[in-house]
Amino acid sequence: MLSLTKKRMSVRVRFAPSPTGALHIGGLRTALYNYLLAKKNDGKFILRIEDTDQNRKVDQAEAYITEALSWCGLEPDESPSKPGSFGPYRQSERKQVYQKYIQELIEKGKAYYAFDTPEELSKIREVYELEKKTFKYGIDTRMSLKNSLSLSSGETEEALNTLPYVVRLKIDSGKNIKVKDGVRGYIEVKSEEIDDKILMKADGMPTYHFANVVDDHLMEITDVIRGEEWLPSLALHQLIYDAFEWNAPKFMHLPLILKPQGKGKLSKRDGEKMGFPVFPLKWENAEGFKERGFLPEALMNYLALLGWNPGTDEEIFLMDTLVEIFNTDKIQKGGAKFDFEKAKWINHKYLGFTEEKIIFERFPEFLNCLPSTWSQKKRSDVYSLLRDRLFLLEELKSQSELFLRDPIDYDLKVMNKIIKHDPKKIVAQFCKMAKEEIPLSEWKSKIEKWNENEKLPFGAIMQSLRLAIVGNLSGPDIFIICEILGNQVTLNRLTKFINNQNF
Ligand code: GLU
Repeated sequence: MLSLTKKRMSVRVRFAPSPTGALHIGGLRTALYNYLLAKKNDGKFILRIEDTDQNRKVDQAEAYITEALSWCGLEPDESPSKPGSFGPYRQSERKQVYQKYIQELIEKGKAYYAFDTPEELSKIREVYELEKKTFKYGIDTRMSLKNSLSLSSGETEEALNTLPYVVRLKIDSGKNIKVKDGVRGYIEVKSEEIDDKILMKADGMPTYHFANVVDDHLMEITDVIRGEEWLPSLALHQLIYDAFEWNAPKFMHLPLILKPQGKGKLSKRDGEKMGFPVFPLKWENAEGFKERGFLPEALMNYLALLGWNPGTDEEIFLMDTLVEIFNTDKIQKGGAKFDFEKAKWINHKYLGFTEEKIIFERFPEFLNCLPSTWSQKKRSDVYSLLRDRLFLLEELKSQSELFLRDPIDYDLKVMNKIIKHDPKKIVAQFCKMAKEEIPLSEWKSKIEKWNENEKLPFGAIMQSLRLAIVGNLSGPDIFIICEILGNQVTLNRLTKFINNQNF
């Protein structure tokens, strides 16, 4: 039985991407888990755009992220385009908020101004390297550097008016920072190991760490679910919460999505090399899951299982069920191998049970390969004949080709195997039935009757017919194919086979 956990009060979670490019499926999975946790608890799912690093910002990225979430059915309750009462939801529009809070930390003596130029710092770093040591701006070094802790108040005043400066967190010595990660348990770090991180850059913009903590607090975020790459920042974030004397949210860091072979993080290049998408929607020249013919529900189902397990062998879960059974306790620690075949299999299952009408309505771009000159019945017959064979909607094009064109040639291997049974003679029998317009439902019994004298292996008979109609042994039920093709086209193909001079 699936365990249903109790609802919690006012859960608020956020998905906080930096708009530096397309949304990778790793990010999409983070968004999904946040969404599931929110919906399970009747909470709120918030989209916050973390765009404080203007140099890395990519123009189309935010629109892409918004569109991708929407295609996946992960509609935020609050976002830049749907502001709630905790906005703005774009960090670049919250500069004044950060100014206010950085001031608060400085006044509390928890942060300080630092005036060292990047050149000065890199010189110091070089000296340390020569001595095979690593330089850290922090507890051991700060008093010998140029900052408001080492300078007199007059010097500081003067420097603030004349020099560029950053603001750094003042980390106290001798502290043991212990933070709980919901996936990995307690993480412990000594304060000496952390440097006095920059909170505010020289351009007046906050760093990721500072903005992230301030926003999570102000937006009343209760649970932070994010990628494992942020685990090393966890202790620092805790220190920022402590400096403000704020309660930190609960943290959960998701395992990496690994390459199919299992070693290393899944990258865009892996997708290009192995021919699978890593983005939900097309990005530059890389096709997304959408363009390959995934149903977004199937993609969500697959991603839900990539790093979380429901505790049963079941693998097909509609979104409503996922919301009901999702439980962060079952998020796995180890990396999750990306398995495109598995993703396709899940999509195949969804294609199998999704009503044909819905497919025609929602994914017309994939149905265009069935000519509009065909009747709706014929388009529908072809789709329903082929749907059980589809793993991706894009495959409909190649699978339906047999209805559009007569075979160009005949599979030689099959031909060599059956030639001793005189396939032309066999096909001539079918041709006769087509000419006499004998209903297809009677073809089988009629050919069996004819074969009472001929005594041919029945397989060879069917293979001859299939070869004549399709050109090879692939494809669904051959009599249904003939039915859809209609008597005239069937007759033409049979006649062409008989008239072929190459065998
Ligand atoms: N902006 C960060 C990212 O893009 C968010 C990390 C977090 O969720 O705290 O990964």
